[in-house]
Amino acid sequence: MDTLDYPLKLLIFTDLNDTLLDQNYDFKPAERALALIREYQIPLILCTSKTRGQTEIYRRRLNIREPLIVENGGAIHFPPGSFPIGRLPAGSLYENGEYILELSGSAESLLPSLLEAAKIVGTEVETIFDMPVERIMGITGMSSEESELARERSYTIYFLCPWKRDELFAELRRRGLKPTWGSYFCHLGATNSKGQSAHKLTALYRELGFFDLITAGFGDNMNDLPLLQMVNMPFLVERPGGGYAEGVEVDDLKKLEGIGPAGWNRGVIDLINGIDWE
Ligand SMILES: [Mg+2]
Repeated sequence: MDTLDYPLKLLIFTDLNDTLLDQNYDFKPAERALALIREYQIPLILCTSKTRGQTEIYRRRLNIREPLIVENGGAIHFPPGSFPIGRLPAGSLYENGEYILELSGSAESLLPSLLEAAKIVGTEVETIFDMPVERIMGITGMSSEESELARERSYTIYFLCPWKRDELFAELRRRGLKPTWGSYFCHLGATNSKGQSAHKLTALYRELGFFDLITAGFGDNMNDLPLLQMVNMPFLVERPGGGYAEGVEVDDLKKLEGIGPAGWNRGVIDLINGIDWE
């Protein structure tokens, strides 16, 4: 963290797919808002179901230096320079040049429960671990590089379930697990959620002395619900094709006009202009 020209008053947590990124994995429609974020030195925290490797692609493209919340909150990564090392919580691991705070058990430990639940319910699941890269590219439109990285999951499983999805989710919940969904896949995690991890990271920023921080969260889909429940100012963008994801309702939710990054752009500009930066 460098010296700040503006007071640190706001943290922005954002989902990637279909929120900051459009269907071509591009954030161009949000460029005006991104320029304002840079000008006001607002921490932009990517909060995604993507893996660490995938998220790094967008961190580099966006040229930001903040911590990353990966795999629906499975872990918070602290790339070099993103946070004062001396203020990280005990238990943070040092791995491949950065600190990691793990908030969930392993993806492998979830696999037997997923397969067993599918059997009991009488459905089939196809996990991302069993999908060839070409199939992941076909489903998501991601590059081959990102599709490879999407399989390197540590805390959550991406899967497809062609029928009886509601029954499967109910069975998984009975087992104390947390199924949800994003743009292309169902997701299975254990105790983790985007909301818990964003809460934890907000607490770490407050411990640096920024007690009056406001938190804003941007999402488009069901797996963003825990994040939108946690932040002070929740924003929902329109889904590809228009309209909002069904069932994503929280108090004070601001539904933005505009699909993905177009709605994001409007929402962030209004948010920043609405803050007293004195
Ligand atoms: Mg999304």
